[in-house]
Amino acid sequence: MVVRACSAGAPMSAGTATTQLVIPERAVFYGGRFYELDGPGTAVVNPANEREIARVADASPEIVDAVVTSARAGFELWSRVPVAERAEALDRLAATMERHGDQLARIATSEVGTPIRDSRAGQVNLPVRVLRSTADITRDYPWDVRDAAGSSIVREPAGVVLAITPWNFPVHQIITKVAPALAAGCSVILKPAEITPLTALFIAALCDEAGIPPGVVNVVTGRGSVLGEAFLQSGGYDVVSFTGSLPVGRHIGAVAGNDIVRATLELGGKSPALVLPDADLKTAVATTVRNCFVNAGQKCNAPTRLLVPRERADEAADIAAAVADSYEIGDPMDEKTTMGPMVSNAQRDIVTDFLTDAAAAGARVVTGGDRSRWDRGYFITPAIVTDAERDSRIAVEEVFGPVLTVFGYDGEADGIRLANDTQFGLSAEVWSGDPARAAATARLIRAGQVRINGVRTPHLPVSPFGGYKRSGLGRELGEFGLDEFVEVKAVLGDPVVEAANGQDR
Ligand code: NAD
Repeated sequence: MVVRACSAGAPMSAGTATTQLVIPERAVFYGGRFYELDGPGTAVVNPANEREIARVADASPEIVDAVVTSARAGFELWSRVPVAERAEALDRLAATMERHGDQLARIATSEVGTPIRDSRAGQVNLPVRVLRSTADITRDYPWDVRDAAGSSIVREPAGVVLAITPWNFPVHQIITKVAPALAAGCSVILKPAEITPLTALFIAALCDEAGIPPGVVNVVTGRGSVLGEAFLQSGGYDVVSFTGSLPVGRHIGAVAGNDIVRATLELGGKSPALVLPDADLKTAVATTVRNCFVNAGQKCNAPTRLLVPRERADEAADIAAAVADSYEIGDPMDEKTTMGPMVSNAQRDIVTDFLTDAAAAGARVVTGGDRSRWDRGYFITPAIVTDAERDSRIAVEEVFGPVLTVFGYDGEADGIRLANDTQFGLSAEVWSGDPARAAATARLIRAGQVRINGVRTPHLPVSPFGGYKRSGLGRELGEFGLDEFVEVKAVLGDPVVEAANGQDR
């Protein structure tokens, strides 16, 4: 492996509103610089037209030692930086991301296929808010307090964080790890998904421009099974924070468990939308379908199981099909587009396979699953399925595509049982004409987040996000997200506390 230092994030037209960051090709970022790697690298493909848009490094395990050394040095430095300065750095990173927001949104759309309006909202504005809200939480966090026994309870940075992220909302998923890790005083080694590396490298350039010191954020692209595995087995980190599929999460949890290293796992879902008999069916169904099909359904907390009173299941399926058929599917760079392509042909094949399987098992595909209209691009029309058995594959496995299945239930208790009848527990929706009834039902559902009557995500992204059961371990966002990256130390008989004489420091 040959590495050559190359220019990092140099602006093409500095000082203008259209400043563009330049991300060098086949490069990795550590020790505060980009290094170009030898070899052909890996092509990044735009899923809307199947064209190669860039080549990135396919780093081999040989790079692991250098990157771990960089991250260790970054940790030694960053963990000593006062909390207020760390919070300021997050605010600076937020401002830098905002300044380059247009370019970032376009890159996200080019590599994921998300409609550009949604990329602006979810891949720029949301992570900017996560950075700022994390900065605020950091300023008020109980870093050093006393307990009832008079001991000091000191929260300290946990160390080097290995962050492994998926492709579906790449910027947001990276920032929900990087923001609290940096707030806590940790350094980060980021291994992004192989099909969406450009947003990750862009974030490296943003960190550099925002003045995050060398070694604090390190970004290396490569295959999960090769490079990700090499980092995982390296022993060079203190926390692993993973977002991705259940099988890989299970493996990462096992390795971390064996090494007694802390692991945060954000895994899959098969989330229910439980529509109680007194809900406005049309609003509940239409809103659920739109929520489910965000990002062409490639969303871990998509409400993919719509549960309605049995006597209204056909009506619900018809409403859902009408909404599904109303999507403007096409070029995700077009402002009018409401659904882009799927991220890859492999992901689209998974959807087709699920639909074929469901039909063979006796379910009815009311609409969707058509990919024949497009010569190029990984497009497919969104699908509504009904009459599926409760234990069939489409009812229990995560599809990760634009597919919603309608189920009928017999009485409220059966509806709640069905909502909970899953190995996952990431999120859920409850719909009712009576908010108190909805709130009581929300408390009966075994999931990390329950949304009542389709309430929009709060402007302040601080509510914890994470799963019960096989949806994962730990939480992201807000104070709970910060907790994942701190160690807790009790100092008994701390003279500083006695000197403080009853005052919190
Ligand atoms: P994936 O598990 O295939 O890959 C995720 C990441 O793990 C990638 O960076 C990949 O390169 C890496 N990886 C793969 N094998 C590895 C190994 N042996 N060692 C170390 N790293 C390895 O998942 P994906 O296909 O990128 O994403 C889709 C999945 O992610 C879905 O199941 C979805 O539900 C889940 N997801 C969960 C959340 C959440 O917050 N709960 C959010 C988004 C996506």
